[in-house]
Amino acid sequence: METVTASAPGRVNLIGEHIDYNDGWVLPFAIGERTTVRISLRDDTKFRFTSAQKKDVIEIDHSNLAPSKRRSDWSDYIAGTIWALEVDQGLNVHIDGQVPLGAGLSSSAALECAVALGLDRIFSMAKPRTDLARLAQRAENEYVGMPCGIMDQSVSLMATSGHALLIDCVTLETRQIPLDLTREGLELLIIDTNIHHALVDGGYRERRERCAAALRQLGMRSMRELDEAQLELFGNSLDGISYRRVRHAVTEIARVHQSVTLLEKGDFVGLGKLLSESHLSLKNDYEVSCPELDLAVEVSESMGALGARMVGGGFGGSAIALTPEEKIDQIKMEVVQAYAQSNFPKPRFFTALPSEGARIESDG
Ligand code: ADP
Ligand code: MG
Repeated sequence: METVTASAPGRVNLIGEHIDYNDGWVLPFAIGERTTVRISLRDDTKFRFTSAQKKDVIEIDHSNLAPSKRRSDWSDYIAGTIWALEVDQGLNVHIDGQVPLGAGLSSSAALECAVALGLDRIFSMAKPRTDLARLAQRAENEYVGMPCGIMDQSVSLMATSGHALLIDCVTLETRQIPLDLTREGLELLIIDTNIHHALVDGGYRERRERCAAALRQLGMRSMRELDEAQLELFGNSLDGISYRRVRHAVTEIARVHQSVTLLEKGDFVGLGKLLSESHLSLKNDYEVSCPELDLAVEVSESMGALGARMVGGGFGGSAIALTPEEKIDQIKMEVVQAYAQSNFPKPRFFTALPSEGARIESDG
């Protein structure tokens, strides 16, 4: 086999926010937009990367593949995956991605996972998808230098269409959960605020550290040992802010489990309510929202979305709204108007349906 074409999707997380590092569960699904990679063997030790989305051509010799020699550009995601899979034969790699770059839809994981699956096939490694997910994550953590969890790579490699993927962030076990939005006449609207507040890094670290400290103070090892009733009983030793941070983690973990139960019953109205509760918790208890996200959520809800919430780290980025198909255009229009009235930047919109994970497109 001289040439392999593989593809992998971006993702969106339905529910389970700021709990991957709090021993929780997340419930992402793969979106329809995919990144495709064509890999062909060379008879030397050079790697040559091109992308339909980039003008430059990158050439790296195998002897320069160490993370310390990374170029700090788009080639790192590919070189890092080749490095993580310990490939030493020269390759031509051509990328063509439809996942919007830097919109919080994980074009980075789509790229790594497409490359990982393509390499696995061309070199007949036959690694389980869970291993490929860890290796792709390793590329992003240790090569690109981005300390992400395993969610993005797991769902990009393991999603199935019409399902969300429940991921246990402690054991990394996964379960396919039915999410047939099409049958319900629903779609997920993604509203990218185009805002990236500088607060995001410091705010993220502060939340992590405070939750860990609060757990120590409560004498608990994990947020999953705690429920809301127990927190009410034992939480009075915590200061007010820590109490609210922990309450977000504990209630969000409960909401993920409730979402799974509702989805198994096909109760999308109930799911919508949980999305909106998740947003309130992120806004009031975890305090990671911002006026732009709140406005996107409020307008979506008032215009007929079943529920809406901010996604990702917060302080900007995107919101999602679970929306009847026929209401999508009007919600978009109203959000654009409301943003203009508030002098916010122009938002971007995407729609998503649960799609298939990484696959081989062609062999040989
Ligand atoms: P996100 O994962 O949310 O889209 P990241 O900053 O994590 O944002 O990853 C985006 C980066 O991944 C881009 O800046 C680029 O370096 C790389 N990338 C993703 N898709 C492509 C592509 N099709 N071609 C080249 N580089 C890509
Ligand atoms: Mg990314």
